[in-house]
Parts: sequence; structure tokens; C-alpha cells
Amino acid sequence: MEKEEKYPRDFQEFLAQFDTEQACWQYLIEMRWPSEYVCPHCQSSQYWLTAKHKIHCSNCQKELSITSGTIFQETKKPLLLWFHIMWWVVAQKTGASAHNLTDFMGFGSYETAWTWLHKLRRAMIRTGREKLSGTIEVDETYIGGNETGTENRGRGAEDKLLVVVAVECIGKQIARVRFKIISDATAENLIPFIEETIESGSTVITDGWKGYAPMCKRDDFQYVAKPIANSGKKAHELLPHVHLVDSLVKRWINGTHQGRISDKHLEYYLDEFAFRFNRKMSTYRGKLFYRLMQQAVNTLPVTYKEITK
Ligand SMILES: [Zn+2]
Repeated sequence: MEKEEKYPRDFQEFLAQFDTEQACWQYLIEMRWPSEYVCPHCQSSQYWLTAKHKIHCSNCQKELSITSGTIFQETKKPLLLWFHIMWWVVAQKTGASAHNLTDFMGFGSYETAWTWLHKLRRAMIRTGREKLSGTIEVDETYIGGNETGTENRGRGAEDKLLVVVAVECIGKQIARVRFKIISDATAENLIPFIEETIESGSTVITDGWKGYAPMCKRDDFQYVAKPIANSGKKAHELLPHVHLVDSLVKRWINGTHQGRISDKHLEYYLDEFAFRFNRKMSTYRGKLFYRLMQQAVNTLPVTYKEITK
């Protein structure tokens, strides 16, 4: 049976629930083993906790670190700090940048703060996500390549990455979004993206670019092409939802991250944007914290070296 989702609804409840290091460790155990802990060696569920935060099996005496195989593996910082940063990252509508994290949380180095945020981003994507459904606008846009242009003047679209964006529209509202970096806007890239992210039977709206042409022959989707040519309208009027998301992503990259995102890491920033955006209707910010924690205990850690490789 699915256990009740236990999370603090707001920051006051967060402070009350996570008041000691011990409370954080207990929460990690509950998140990682939601039904009950079962020893991987002997299947016993009898254990005790060691002073070094290991689960010691009462039956076979083998030990397992609570954080091994999670993004917290081998961390030397208090869990309280991790929990606070996770709350901070999800509770703010604009997220957090490594720069303000370094100052605000008193990290010794920018590199450490940057690595922590990247570890968290790896936990912001969930495989096997549900597909978008209903009415979906799809379009491509160039992102990255140092948006502000302050450090690499004159860089044009050739240094940016092409991203295909799918946006679920409910009337004038936007529900969920999906992104994927693609090498070019050909049917070989665009059609698989549509198949991977959109439920069949949905209505797919594009600007009628030739890369989407195979959609005309599909009977598993309703396809609507809205070409700009001769429409008397601008692109953002024909596909308003996807253009709004496009501008929000760019504003976030230029604002929170001051445009300083390397192409190599763009996909993880897009994951973070989608993680937050897709849960913007959640009543409680704590729900985002819970989701992030749930994925954090099931995500392998990455090191600075691996991230920058
Ligand atoms: Zn055992």
C-alpha cells in the first residue's frame, strides 16, 4: 500500500520537522524504504542504526550506509544543510544559482555550491514520466551559447543549442512542459520527440515547419499546422503558449543564472526548469521538496569531475 506522503507544507513546518540532524536521517530512511527496510543480504527487516548512520542488520550483521546510492553518498556536510538547500531551491519560483548559494549558505567555494546544485538537478528528472495529453503546442527555439553575450560577444545562433519544446495547453493556461535538445529540426528528430512526450490521440499544433510534415499522415494524432506565412499574425500569436514558455526559460537563464550556462549542461537546467514549472500549481511548496527528496534517494551521485568531464 502506498504510504501517505509526509512533507512539511511550508517553511514553518519544515523548521519544526527538521530540527535536528537525527530527524533528517530518520526522514531519509523513510523516504528510501517507504514500506520497510529489508536487508539485501538476508531479507531480514530487523536492524539497528549505528553511530555512523549505517543500518546494521540484526540477523546477518552486515551494514549498509543510509546514503549510499543516493545523491548524498559520502557527503561530509550535515543533512540539515542539504535539506535547507533543497527547500531553498524548490521554494523559490526562480530557483537558486551557484553564486547566491555560495554567499548565502557560506560555502567555501563556488565549485562546491555549483556541484551541489548539479547533483540536485540530476534528481529533478524522472524516467517513465507520464506523457503530455490534450492540446499540445510544439516548437523549436535556440537557447544557450551565453545568452547575455557579455563574455563571448557576437556569438550567434550557431553557438546556441536547438531545443524542441512541447507545451500542454488548457485554455489560456499552461499545464506541463517538456524539452529536448536536438541536433537539427528535421523530422528524424521532431517526430520521435512527439511520440516520446505526447499521448496518442492528442492534438499537436505547430507552425507547419516541414520537419513536422509526417504528422499530416498520422491518424494517431490530430495535427494542426499554423504557418506564419500569409496568416497576418506573428509567431507568438499563432503559438502563444510555447512562445511564453520559451521566453520564461530565457528569462530564468538570464536572470537567476545571468546567462552563464554552458551548452554542455543546458539539458540539466531545462530539467530543473520543467521540474519547477510542472508543479507550479501545487498547493504547497513542500510537495516539490517531497518529490525532490523522493528522487534524490533514488539517484546515484555524480562528482564534480564526472559533471565537468
Ligand atoms: Zn541481513
